Amino acid sequence: MKITIWGCRGSMPSPGPEKNKYGGNTACVQLEHDNSCIILDGGSGIQSLGKKLSPDISVVNILLTHLHIDHIMGLGYFQPFYNPNCTVNIWGPAGSSESLTVRLRRYFSPPFFPVRLNELPAKIHIIEIDNSTFQIDDFVIKSEYLCHPGPTVGYRIQLGETIISYMPDHEPALGSSNFPHLSDWCSGYNIAKDADLLFHDGQYRNEEYDRRVGWGHCSMEDAIDFGTLSNVKKMVLFHHDPVNKDIDLENMLNQSIANKNFNYELILGKENDSFLIQ
Ligand SMILES: [Zn+2]
Ligand SMILES: [Zn+2]
Repeated sequence: MKITIWGCRGSMPSPGPEKNKYGGNTACVQLEHDNSCIILDGGSGIQSLGKKLSPDISVVNILLTHLHIDHIMGLGYFQPFYNPNCTVNIWGPAGSSESLTVRLRRYFSPPFFPVRLNELPAKIHIIEIDNSTFQIDDFVIKSEYLCHPGPTVGYRIQLGETIISYMPDHEPALGSSNFPHLSDWCSGYNIAKDADLLFHDGQYRNEEYDRRVGWGHCSMEDAIDFGTLSNVKKMVLFHHDPVNKDIDLENMLNQSIANKNFNYELILGKENDSFLIQ
């Protein structure tokens, strides 16, 4: 399986020369295996991904964690939507009172976007999930609600023995007085447990998080603790704050590592990075 990061910035795109190393595009990760193409979130990074796909591709699956704008803002610029020979399956959570289709139509309509959802030439299927298990080709996928404002799921994607977990927006410390010591009561634990590779929120410094409790994101130090609790083999810190330059992210990581003991590989998410996992 090949995994490629097309965007790992959080909240809003944030381009610029001081952010070239880790990139400015918002959340988008691609998983490839045989002819399967699974795309995690439709942030601004999905535009470049769409241009790299074969024009003959016949099926694409997009798994949305939630409908915050930084996770869907690239959808309108995704090439396969304009190919009448392509089927695009969109998986994601419904709202408490609105279907996923209604929520997506809000983005695919004026004044936000000139083309309506039903005007896109591709064959589009919209599939609602909650705490679900489903299969796409050889991938077995579990989704589960996470601690983040609005209905938000994380994904646990299994191919053979390999497990990839994806939770770019997640605040595991909220709602647990015992974080990070009680796995049973920790949001996201079932999704991340024993993962070979976990993509996880790490937006804030500790002192920033203290002023932003309940906003749905976590500190790098909480993310590191969550990785230890979940016994992951490798973690990619994700959802970089748009104000942070490359040097800021590296300083944050160094400071967080100095304060923690952990025994897995930890890296900063970097746009255009690829991983090959057997
Ligand atoms: Zn986000
Ligand atoms: Zn969000």
